[in-house]
Amino acid sequence: MTQKSLRILQLYPRDMNIYGDWGNTLTVLRRAERHGISAEVIDYNPGDEFPKDIDIVIGGGGQDSGQLKIQDDLQQLAPTLRELAEDNVPMLAICGLYQLFGHFFKTKDGDMIKGIGILDIETYGSNERLIGNIITHSERFGDIVGYENHSGLTYLADTTQLLGTVTKGAGNNGKDHTEGACFNNVIGTYLHGSLLPKNPVIADWLIEQACMRKYGEFTPADIDDSLAQHARETAMNRPR
Ligand code: GLN
Repeated sequence: MTQKSLRILQLYPRDMNIYGDWGNTLTVLRRAERHGISAEVIDYNPGDEFPKDIDIVIGGGGQDSGQLKIQDDLQQLAPTLRELAEDNVPMLAICGLYQLFGHFFKTKDGDMIKGIGILDIETYGSNERLIGNIITHSERFGDIVGYENHSGLTYLADTTQLLGTVTKGAGNNGKDHTEGACFNNVIGTYLHGSLLPKNPVIADWLIEQACMRKYGEFTPADIDDSLAQHARETAMNRPR
């Protein structure tokens, strides 16, 4: 049996990485190893050369100012990222990058930050911030637990696939109970936490999609998730 290996791209760790979002990358790295797959992380910051042979793309949230900083570089990457998304590369984009995986984020100060349109969504900054613990119910992943903190209100096109429905918290816009959006193997979500340590099923799904795409097979190891389960239960019982 050949040793499987995955290359994880961390998008904009300098400018888009708040509320511990880097923990998502660390979780994928560690769980891949526990499944017997070696994995390496490649950082991509503005101006870097885009690396070849990427199997998973992960990006975090950021302040409006961080989003403004990366916007020009992100436009240059747009064709490459769209091509990878079309080619079923699994991706996870949190909050600020989730917004920019859509068509645009118009900040509350009136700045229009262009997105890359992988997700058919639009985001408008508001004067109120949506902050607190959040639970989303997803058909694919069950209950997803996290923490949200955003001023942007995101609206999905009628045909855009949701990540899930909010059972506690605000989600995409605080009105229609939707949370996150998906396209092929791309997941966008407002959930920080970090998300993946408390939702290992999503981490394993990203690894599985990457392995299926690259090797046509994935045999999961039996990982003891009792600590993650404990963290999930604690988070689910916290007040909003
Ligand atoms: N700056 C964006 C907003 O406030 C994204 C915030 C974030 O990534 N947490 O909506």
